[in-house]
Amino acid sequence: MLRTRGYAATGPSERLGPYEFDRRDLRAHDTLVDIQYCGVCHSDIHQARDEWGGSTFPMVPGHEVVGIVAGVGAEVSRWNVGDTVGVGVFVDSCRVCEACRAGEEQYCERGMSQTYNGREQDGVTPTYGGYSEHIVVDEAYVLRIPERMSPAGTAPLLCAGITTYSPIRHFGVRAGDRAAVVGLGGLGHMAVKFLDALGAEVTVLSRSAGKEDDAARLGADDFVVTSDEAAFTSNAKRFDFILDTVSAGHDYNSYLSLLRRDGTMALVGLPGPSPLDAGQLIDARRRLAGSSVGGISETQEMLDFCAAHGIEADVEVIAMKQVNEAFERTLRSDVRYRFVIDMTTLGDAGTAAG
Ligand code: NAP
Ligand code: ZN
Ligand code: ZN
Repeated sequence: MLRTRGYAATGPSERLGPYEFDRRDLRAHDTLVDIQYCGVCHSDIHQARDEWGGSTFPMVPGHEVVGIVAGVGAEVSRWNVGDTVGVGVFVDSCRVCEACRAGEEQYCERGMSQTYNGREQDGVTPTYGGYSEHIVVDEAYVLRIPERMSPAGTAPLLCAGITTYSPIRHFGVRAGDRAAVVGLGGLGHMAVKFLDALGAEVTVLSRSAGKEDDAARLGADDFVVTSDEAAFTSNAKRFDFILDTVSAGHDYNSYLSLLRRDGTMALVGLPGPSPLDAGQLIDARRRLAGSSVGGISETQEMLDFCAAHGIEADVEVIAMKQVNEAFERTLRSDVRYRFVIDMTTLGDAGTAAG
């Protein structure tokens, strides 16, 4: 066992604080990663506060991990000590179901092992995430970080990046398509970058008028403030594709009305349930879809796409002990556009046994 320092929530209404736990000894196919940076995803907040139900505590969040390989199991062939690698939203899956065989491990029919707040494939052992100094992951669930990418700017690609890249690719957005991104946060700002790189005409739909200049800098062609109800009538039937990244409950129907005939709105934001008006789908043969992160091979493809197009996340690097404040600022939509924890600051936060 490898004693590991991290940061954990001990209950849904507790602030995160120092927590020590054990990582497993390396199995034949395991990789030990010394974590350099870990992004702060809104899913970390939803789960640490048990907003989706079923959370297990203590919880060490974090699934946007970049680090350096510090050890390998006896049969590891893909990685060498010193490689810069990434770990995303899941660390294992059954490997035999139809989804796994199709390289869509995120939809594993027997259940993938989430990086944290999950279970290993034995169904019993809890998983602990990237708000920690190192992590042990099977080599097949580790990503290669292309050379010359900055580790802090790359960490958010492991969740925010792949979660937006995957539906944009899957639903076939092409150059010239009129695409909209709802919510300019961690996921939303990555979506703008990808859509711009693919040559789509990109509009940001945001409640925050103060983000307009940022949207243009990120690659958006237009910016619509949605707190003005008139925006929904003046932009009716405008878009071929809408990616909804909003983290809080909102009315899907008004956004659906912005789709033109045969348009698709893909949900990646995961708030609670919201009523759906069938009329909004029927009116223009619209489609409403959802999408969960992306498979391992698609995540590697996304990282290579980012390297080829010079894409990284816009990040604000914080110390570990600032994470509670970062949660609060994220909830206020006050993040430009992803907090990333510098894991070398973990020691400054003190330690506690767990
Ligand atoms: P984030 O950085 O907090 O961004 C969310 C954005 O949504 C905010 O910046 C804000 O943008 C907008 N927003 C917030 N509250 C709103 C409201 N009441 N009405 C309208 N807009 C609102 O969060 P994130 O990390 O990007 O994550 C977004 C969501 O995706 C979360 O629910 C997260 O759990 C989910 N997620 C899903 C997957 C998946 O696999 N499907 C993966 C990762 C995350 P404006 O200021 O521009 O309005
Ligand atoms: Zn995430
Ligand atoms: Zn499977």
